Amino acid sequence: MVSTDIMSFSTFDRETVNAPDLCSLCRAKAASLRYAVSSSDDASQKLNGYCCSDCASNLVTALEQRQRSQIGVVQGVFYA
Ligand SMILES: [Zn+2]
Repeated sequence: MVSTDIMSFSTFDRETVNAPDLCSLCRAKAASLRYAVSSSDDASQKLNGYCCSDCASNLVTALEQRQRSQIGVVQGVFYA
């Protein structure tokens, strides 16, 4: 059985969460969402951090591409 990737986004309270000011992916826009990626294989989170809405959109696109190709596209996009 092929594992599936689970991606989630949430808002956060900047007053109570020690989040970076800038998106940790593009470092150009303000971080506005918290993202988390995990696998159906195990409950542990592979990646998580804070990103802007543009990068959130890119992550969803990368997830779709990964679903199609089943290669490490998501990792490539995160660290490109
Ligand atoms: Zn960004």
